[in-house]
Amino acid sequence: MRPGSLPGPPRPYLWSGRYARSVMAVFPIRTFGDPVLRAVAEPIDEVTSAIERLIDDMFEAMYDAPGVGLAAPQIGISKRLFVADIGEGPIVMINPELVETAGQWEYDEGCLSVPGRFWSIERPGFARARGLDRSGVEVEHAGEELMGRVLQHEIDHLDGTLLLGRLTRRVRKQALRELREEALGLRPVEL
Ligand code: ZN
Repeated sequence: MRPGSLPGPPRPYLWSGRYARSVMAVFPIRTFGDPVLRAVAEPIDEVTSAIERLIDDMFEAMYDAPGVGLAAPQIGISKRLFVADIGEGPIVMINPELVETAGQWEYDEGCLSVPGRFWSIERPGFARARGLDRSGVEVEHAGEELMGRVLQHEIDHLDGTLLLGRLTRRVRKQALRELREEALGLRPVEL
């Protein structure tokens, strides 16, 4: 993986504590072209046991990938929920909203739903998000750089926006052409 790309936590983490459920099948991650990734996800009314189970499944899929963030639409569930872990511990946000952003930061951004591709994208360097945790209690997460980027990237997923939507028109056109050619087998996938 390139330096500057979104790294996952070390693999042994997968087998620790409550996430040691990996003997079961991991949810496949939906990739570019899947309509669920373009849909605006539905708010979650109540944190039921099914939602808690979904959260566990999402952590499992994220750590398995590995990645530092995963939104529910990425495993085909159009609900406003994401999980993340940039190496500082697991985060769950239900019905999250960005409440503050500041500054600017350019970063080589990737996405588990567009595997193996990275684009330099400028976004606010700091972000603060508010939502509910897995107990349904209001929670805020905020941070600079990678944390700020993950919060913005995952909330974008809940609004049906992939990182391609954050590229300039010219770069996006080129990226879409390459992705289409890859899908048709006309171009080797560059990893
Ligand atoms: Zn993503």
